[in-house]
Amino acid sequence: MTANAHIRNRLSDLRREFHRYPEPAWREFYTTCRLAEEIERIGVDQLYLGRTAMNPDERLAVPDSAQIAAWRDRARANGASHDLLERLTDCTGAVAVLNRGDGPTVALRVDIDGLLREESTDVTHRPASEGFRSRHGGVMHACGHDAHMAIGLGVLEAVTQSDFSGTFTVFFQPAEEKAGGGRPMAKSEHIEDVDYLFVVHVGLDHPTGEVVAGMIEPLAVSNLIATFREESVHAGRAPNEVRNAIQALGTAVQSVYSIPRHADGTSRVNIGRVEGGTTPNALGEPIEVKAEVRGETTELMGYAKGEFENAVAAAADMHGCDADVTIEGQAPRADSDPELAALVSAAARGHPAVNRVVDETRFGASEDATYLMREVQAHGGLATYAIVGTDHPTGHHTATFDVDEASLPIAVDVLTEAVLSAVSRDVLGRDDVHARSSAVDLE
Ligand SMILES: [Zn+2]
Ligand SMILES: [Zn+2]
Repeated sequence: MTANAHIRNRLSDLRREFHRYPEPAWREFYTTCRLAEEIERIGVDQLYLGRTAMNPDERLAVPDSAQIAAWRDRARANGASHDLLERLTDCTGAVAVLNRGDGPTVALRVDIDGLLREESTDVTHRPASEGFRSRHGGVMHACGHDAHMAIGLGVLEAVTQSDFSGTFTVFFQPAEEKAGGGRPMAKSEHIEDVDYLFVVHVGLDHPTGEVVAGMIEPLAVSNLIATFREESVHAGRAPNEVRNAIQALGTAVQSVYSIPRHADGTSRVNIGRVEGGTTPNALGEPIEVKAEVRGETTELMGYAKGEFENAVAAAADMHGCDADVTIEGQAPRADSDPELAALVSAAARGHPAVNRVVDETRFGASEDATYLMREVQAHGGLATYAIVGTDHPTGHHTATFDVDEASLPIAVDVLTEAVLSAVSRDVLGRDDVHARSSAVDLE
């Protein structure tokens, strides 16, 4: 077996192992333990796990402690290291740091969570026919984050074995699908010195052999939960005493969809789920509304969010209820910097298995890596979000989503080359790198 074939098999094996044990947002305990073992095998200077990999107070979309405990137990039952689980306590995710003397700080961010959806058992679905289908009912790696982890480890190993000079940090970020893990990692000390940040996603309708160097124009997003509350009373005996939360909900739905357009650009609003009430003869039970607002810019998203909060407060006031709005997940807008994307383009153009390079593409969806990108850019650094094409038989988030493993070594090669050229070219120039402004704060 050639060295290349060996690396290719190793990447596929890793990806398949992660695929077998998908874990949803903030419950990636088995995943983080396996990542930590691989990172320790590769050998880094610092490895931060769980709460120490981020600012834990900034986490969004954290499930209740019973959920966390159940998935922690499940990880142990699946054979996760007892010592590593102790180190993680109640939080997932990892940051690996390699110190190799003088030079800029380069970082790579990959996400690690699976989705709450059942995986196909169809024989034409490769994970099912080749024995690496999800072993966790109702959870699946249906977005390629299993591939991202294998790529992250592959790049870390390749950089370790190169003549890289500087600091290399890899963020293994939890809870991307809930837009919950980007903020705590971006608001941690690990991002502070990053001069160049690369983010990678596979697929997104780009085939194997295609590379997009820089994604632009993602939509800023905020996932919101509005709760209406009122004291419970009997609908026959005391209807006059109640302030009806269902009426407040009805008013709020109408008002939310009537939020005026904004002259500065596109915004979106959607109420996707409503839950509450008990029986026809009781009033005033709490009602929970799950909604999202998006904007072409972070400011437009903030406008839609503010109007949403106003609509909820006004509807609650009209019907005498209490209401509150909490943020479940959030991501600002951030665009790739062309100077850094150019390094990905150059690396991709030099790769024998890459037949098409796209310099930039509009995203049109949302992604919370933008928190990290924005933080790096606010400090005067550069960031780019690259897409490495992979043939996927069906769309992201579907039951038969799969990646073409031939894209894994391409991603490792291209990103490693881009990381090394960021150091050798040092696009910012050494003086600029340390002349930093303070970060823009975003709620
Ligand atoms: Zn996804
Ligand atoms: Zn994804």
